[in-house]
Amino acid sequence: MTDKKHISTQTVQAEIGADPAFGSVPPPLYLSSTYLWPSVAQKGPYDYGRTNNPNRDGLARALATLEGGAGAVITSSGMSAIDLVFNLLKADDLIIAPHDCYGGTHRLLTHRAQQGRMRVEFVDQGNADALGQALGKKPALILIETPSNPLMRLVDIAAICKAAKAVGAITMVDNTFLSPVRQQPLTLGADVVIHSTTKYLNGHSDIIGGAVIAKTADMADQLAWWANCIGVTGAAFDSHQTLRGLRTLALRMDKAEANALAIAKWLHKQRAVSKVYYPGLKSDPGHKLMKRQQSGPGAMLSFELKAGAKAATDLAENIDIFGLAASLGGVESLICQPSTMTHRGMAEEARREAGITDDLLRISVGIEDSADLIKALEDGFAQIG
Ligand SMILES: *Cc1c(COP(=O)(O)O)cnc(C)c1O
Repeated sequence: MTDKKHISTQTVQAEIGADPAFGSVPPPLYLSSTYLWPSVAQKGPYDYGRTNNPNRDGLARALATLEGGAGAVITSSGMSAIDLVFNLLKADDLIIAPHDCYGGTHRLLTHRAQQGRMRVEFVDQGNADALGQALGKKPALILIETPSNPLMRLVDIAAICKAAKAVGAITMVDNTFLSPVRQQPLTLGADVVIHSTTKYLNGHSDIIGGAVIAKTADMADQLAWWANCIGVTGAAFDSHQTLRGLRTLALRMDKAEANALAIAKWLHKQRAVSKVYYPGLKSDPGHKLMKRQQSGPGAMLSFELKAGAKAATDLAENIDIFGLAASLGGVESLICQPSTMTHRGMAEEARREAGITDDLLRISVGIEDSADLIKALEDGFAQIG
């Protein structure tokens, strides 16, 4: 009997008590690269670590269950998770990607297209006309990223997946910014979900990893075949760490999100701030869609400073508590200036088109005390005048 448990119970209980050897409560770590065969004609359940590993399989089962997929592949990074899916495409296939997608994804797609590995078009998916026109070109795959990075723009996953299906395209959603505790794209009609597990799923900024979760067993099998073939499967230790981090995902997200909402409301009232991007604010253009599509706004936000780029740099470099770093989703709060850090690899024109200005700062809100975080911002603002 499989009665469906709350997602917070699922994250805590994933793979608990599953050790077949000694009954350890959390799963043991299997570092072996190779496994003994009972005979030359017959191999055991595990044979070679690139192909399969108990820790990776445990994490894959947990993530597939959380996202509502038939199977998952654990990869060496978020980027290799995204690139893994591209192995399902042929050279003349067209990918439609968001014009404001993650900087590394933008770089990967641009350079894969230059190689002739596939065709790529970057589209503002929030613009119905632009999206409709792109779908008219019979794309093979639509990549969706919502909320977008760094401007937290939302697009309607169910509507895009429905339109994609009508033209025979696969839909792939990068769910890194929210995790399955806030958004479940497969239940909204997507075919594939990818994660940088480096971020919320592991949650402690101490591994690099990725995951692809497929709606159907057939696609999960194809992806697992390619992951083994090209050797992008994740490390056993990283999978073990990620499953450990996953246990507190719901708790971490609740706290970080409450902090983010408090910070966004505070920023919204500051005269030094010209704009706050956070779908949790009622004034945000994505608020209504957020309520429909997500179970909460998450803990990422961005804001622009009236005083300009230099003031933004000064604030980011000198603020207390918030570490100046280009990642997100950890227990600790981080700040970054996208134009000079995470999105530096993007051509300036593409950056401008996506609306990423030099006075924009992005915050990954952690699980510290919200009053301390707001005090740090207050002091930082006072310093830049
Ligand atoms: C970090 C990130 C990636 C890339 O993941 P890595 O683990 O750094 O390779 C992809 N998409 C989003 C939205 C990210 O934040």
